[in-house]
Amino acid sequence: MPSDSESSSNSASDDESTSSSSVTKQTETKPLEKEEAEGESVISNKTFSELGINEELCSACTALGWTNATAIQSKSLPLTLAGRDVIGLAETGSGKTGSFALPILQNLMANPQRLYACVLAPTRELAFQIHEVFQGLGQHVGAKSICVVGGVDMMSQAIALANKPHIIVATPGRLVDHLENTKGFNLRQLKYLVMDEADRMLSMDFEEELNKILAEIPDSTSGRRTMLFSATMTSKVEKLQRASLSDPVRVEVSTKFQTPEKLLQQYLFIPAKYKDCYLSYIMNEFSGQSMLVFASTCNNAQRLTLLLRNLGFQAVCLHGQMSQPKRLGALTKFKSGSRDILICTDVASRGLDIPSVDIVINFDLPSNGKDYIHRVGRTARAGRSGRAIAMVTQYDVEVYQRLEVLLGTKLPAFEAEESTVLVFLERVSEAQRLATREMKELMASSSNHKNGKKRGKHSDDGEEGKMRGEARSSYSGGSSGKGGGYHNQRGGGNAKKKHKQKR
Ligand code: AMP
Repeated sequence: MPSDSESSSNSASDDESTSSSSVTKQTETKPLEKEEAEGESVISNKTFSELGINEELCSACTALGWTNATAIQSKSLPLTLAGRDVIGLAETGSGKTGSFALPILQNLMANPQRLYACVLAPTRELAFQIHEVFQGLGQHVGAKSICVVGGVDMMSQAIALANKPHIIVATPGRLVDHLENTKGFNLRQLKYLVMDEADRMLSMDFEEELNKILAEIPDSTSGRRTMLFSATMTSKVEKLQRASLSDPVRVEVSTKFQTPEKLLQQYLFIPAKYKDCYLSYIMNEFSGQSMLVFASTCNNAQRLTLLLRNLGFQAVCLHGQMSQPKRLGALTKFKSGSRDILICTDVASRGLDIPSVDIVINFDLPSNGKDYIHRVGRTARAGRSGRAIAMVTQYDVEVYQRLEVLLGTKLPAFEAEESTVLVFLERVSEAQRLATREMKELMASSSNHKNGKKRGKHSDDGEEGKMRGEARSSYSGGSSGKGGGYHNQRGGGNAKKKHKQKR
């Protein structure tokens, strides 16, 4: 499929109410064929292949960790793949995004076309989440999705729209803005319309916007397929259904992963000079849980890895300056559980099958909300609870405030008593000094390497091995107990044993 541009953006007006005129576009409707609720577990016993999903998309599902279909997916996929309009009575957490993303992508592969599908969601946050799923699945089949929500300037979105992505995920207010004001943009060839959380969209008074969008796209009886998802069937949703769907089948499930409520997002406001110390404190507090730490640069990712290892933590690094085999090696260690802390940059983490983690830590805040959503989406997956902590220093206040505006909510604080945190300052300072020295040595050794001086055969696996080797030979603290400090941390002694065996 043809390539195109990056996504983005948004307007504050999206979440604001407008008028509540009725949905006017009527189509002939027959009584609904109703599928009964399954009422059992979230995951069904059907594989995606059994449900008719093609090989490429089955691999894409596997890469996301989806092996079997969820109940809503298993019930709706055969219908949507056969070209039926569907009303899905299912909540967020049921896997409903996959149930509309997969048939759209599969049919798009068979009939490639720009501006193929449009997904409407009531909030920016949900739109970003849906866009992430389309990106995750779509990257395997060359499909491009963009997210058009309130809060970002119209111009950058207009440019992204001019590149004609295959899929647009949007909040209704901003999409109408573009339909009315962006020259050359229209949805007259649209093949799929999805209205997600329709009950919420209607209770947020998006009825007028929905009317306008329905008036601008092909009729439901003339080749446009429509899927409507809602947690409840209100009279307003029924009216919308009559206006926008053609001969729909109703699919209902009561099962869901409890995703959104289980994600606890917090911020931690701290002085920049103690940032490393606070990170070490958090690592110690949540010792034993899997953690993903985001740094803004390769250098910082590497420095933090060295720092934490010097403190005895089982950290592994993933950044853009590492070769692909090294990245995969690092990921394998993390996946296997032999390392429970993964420190990475946004670029390095993209497109990799990083497993869901217990905690995401934004050590360096991302400069845009899209990256933030992408990062926190790595925790609280598939029904598990999760936590995301944003570390905010005096220099990040503006970026953080923009993030809160985008999220449309104020996050609670992560409580950490400074006097408790600073007990570790001395040890962290020493680990910092060591990490700085190790960084210098790494740089020197990599320039030696470039100049043709190869490392010995037994020099372990390049930077990774060098980092570990340095850490073990020059630091006697860590979890061995010397020097006091982190009571929970694991691994110093074990790590030593493992390295010895390796040699
Ligand atoms: P949704 O209801 O679409 O927001 O999905 C809720 C969560 O379930 C998301 O974290 C998805 O990644 C995850 N999910 C969706 N489909 C599956 C599946 N077939 N197997 C495992 N997890 C899934």
